[in-house]
Amino acid sequence: MKPEAKSPQAWIRPQIRALTAYHVPDPGDLVKLDAMENPWPWPGDLTDAWLESLRGLELNRYPDPGARELSEHLRASMGVPDDAALLLGNGSDELIQMLALSLAEPGRVIMAPEPTFVMYRLIATVAGCDYRGVPLAQDFSLDRGAMLAAIERHRPAILFLAWPNNPTGTLFDAGVIEQLIEAAPGLVVIDEAYAPFTDASLLPRVGEFPNLLVLRTVSKMGLAGLRLGYLAGPRDWLAEIDKTRLPYNINALTQASALFALRHRALLDEQARRIREQRDRLFSALAALPGVTAWPSEANFILFRVAGADAVFAGLRERGVLIKNLSPAGGALADCLRVTVGTGEENARFLDALRGVLADGGLPRGRG
Ligand SMILES: *Cc1c(COP(=O)(O)O)cnc(C)c1O
Repeated sequence: MKPEAKSPQAWIRPQIRALTAYHVPDPGDLVKLDAMENPWPWPGDLTDAWLESLRGLELNRYPDPGARELSEHLRASMGVPDDAALLLGNGSDELIQMLALSLAEPGRVIMAPEPTFVMYRLIATVAGCDYRGVPLAQDFSLDRGAMLAAIERHRPAILFLAWPNNPTGTLFDAGVIEQLIEAAPGLVVIDEAYAPFTDASLLPRVGEFPNLLVLRTVSKMGLAGLRLGYLAGPRDWLAEIDKTRLPYNINALTQASALFALRHRALLDEQARRIREQRDRLFSALAALPGVTAWPSEANFILFRVAGADAVFAGLRERGVLIKNLSPAGGALADCLRVTVGTGEENARFLDALRGVLADGGLPRGRG
């Protein structure tokens, strides 16, 4: 049947109609352990100082289009190599989109190992590229042979490697990554969203390879509300990608607030240290539960597998705890759930709820 004139069916591209929008559930009063957020708000006196720092902003004016002061502070604070260029985005998601828009052409491939961050596929598709996922090995490490073969065959314009990977929490082998960077004909983007929770980073090595870019975000380090990501790489590449950036993409409140936060970096670092400590405790507790398989994580979340994951997820929710159910994705993620590391108290509530659900045979209370 022909679609009706003036209808979305007639005009929206088939690739877009086939997509499912990125869904974020409403947490209500639940203990929120689903989105890799830092669980600690700022102490009251710091909040007061932050609000004071915003007083001088003139909201009638456009922000600094290049966010120059913030860029300089980010470079110094995060150790961006002097000869690398830096590009800021409205979250690292926007930088992924700018990358895809800059390189996309029908027939070109954007590649990533799978399972991984779902936005690579979504953004590649929206940009009109072919997306190729290459399965990870059984233990969620990179399948070196499969990756090299896929690179050879598909000649990807961009290879995204989340390092540590989301949703598995694993840290791919640095030697294999280096081989992939050497083998890739196009860009390799190392997405270090979880840099605060691992000692591994390729940021210091930007410039050593002509095709290596490193992507970061302040979201997971405790500033998810600001929406600020940054991309470091060779100047010739970033000068081109910058042309796809919308003017004033980093708003005045974000510029000022991020500057303020970077001046109090020690607090964020201390929180990241505590999250790492909590992660290791949570991992031991999870791994000790009968019927639960947990994967060691270098991020601020833990992936685990449990039989009847859908029912376990629903049971946790009934007990007031929201985590992420990855089981509907199927394949390697069948029966997998992902819990974000929260405060000690939140993690204890999660573990209590999980023990309760497992004792009830995985079924939510009152439903059988
Ligand atoms: C959370 C996440 C991001 C998104 O970061 P934003 O800066 O909040 O857009 C990017 N990459 C990975 C791997 C993530 O897990």
